[in-house]
Amino acid sequence: MDMQVSFLDRLFDAGLLIETGVDGLYGRSGQFEDVIAAFERLIDRVGGADGAEAMRFPPGMNREFFETSGYMKSFPQLAGTVHSFCGSELDHMSLLKCMEVGEDWTKGQEATDIVLTPAACYPLYPTVARRGKLPKSGGLYDLQSYCFRHEPSKDPARQQLFRMREYVCMGTEQHVTDFRQRWMDRGVEMMTSVGLDVTIDVANDPFFGRAGKMLVNNQRDQNLKFELLIPITSTAKPTACMSFNYHQDAFGTKWGLYLEDGSTAHTACVGFGLERIALALFHTHGLDVKAWPESVRAVLWG
Ligand code: ATP
Ligand code: ZN
Ligand code: MG
Repeated sequence: MDMQVSFLDRLFDAGLLIETGVDGLYGRSGQFEDVIAAFERLIDRVGGADGAEAMRFPPGMNREFFETSGYMKSFPQLAGTVHSFCGSELDHMSLLKCMEVGEDWTKGQEATDIVLTPAACYPLYPTVARRGKLPKSGGLYDLQSYCFRHEPSKDPARQQLFRMREYVCMGTEQHVTDFRQRWMDRGVEMMTSVGLDVTIDVANDPFFGRAGKMLVNNQRDQNLKFELLIPITSTAKPTACMSFNYHQDAFGTKWGLYLEDGSTAHTACVGFGLERIALALFHTHGLDVKAWPESVRAVLWG
């Protein structure tokens, strides 16, 4: 019998991830967080001189913006909404009775104005649109958020609540595609500097249903999405630790993002999967950070 202990179990045993009883929902130890903080400082050093405007949104977003984004058309299977009890005292009594006898007590919950953020950049577009036209030099933004995706898994690299650090660029086609290429080069350099084994490949999102197949083909044919892959749970199937997305003028049109000359802005975003990068480091260099190669420790902690 195969008695191999999974990477997830080893992370639990080492205390780096903390079990909650739900697949993909984990606590993180101080050590795990320290690795993420160190990697984020590396991101700051690499991207800092670009002068991006930093914004931090909470992990929930305005439901109206979520609806406008079209997320439910493409990824209904991944979305998470926030529902609350909004009933009377009588409703409360029947809710408690339901809980007592182990029946479904969530049926009467009502949708709130908040939806869990599916990607760090989602709250940004309506925020920038509200400001009016973008300056000639375009826009560059630095974001970080916990994101929710309903994709429970035993793979520690596929979590339901995880953090995404993103840079988002708005401007002309040339401007934003240059931005994306610059971060693809930087991403490879950064990962190599911390001893990680990287490849870059064209990618696609898991658009839902039969209609989604067309979107998948379009995304791949037009090279709209690239991923930087690093082995975590499998060497044969390495994990996407960064994504590089070119949206053409789709978000510009959807949200009304205009450049000074009145043309519709093109947009691109690059995302770092912070938990995945930490996991790639632990997988590659071992669970004991003190035993990591000196060169790697020097890049992360100086
Ligand atoms: P995958 O193909 O593995 O599902 P994705 O294409 O859905 O990844 P994006 O939507 O591009 O990923 O999200 C940006 C980054 O967030 C990814 O490059 C990855 O590093 C990270 N990420 C995505 N989904 C998860 C998840 N479930 N758990 C942890 N990190 C994730
Ligand atoms: Zn994005
Ligand atoms: Mg995915």
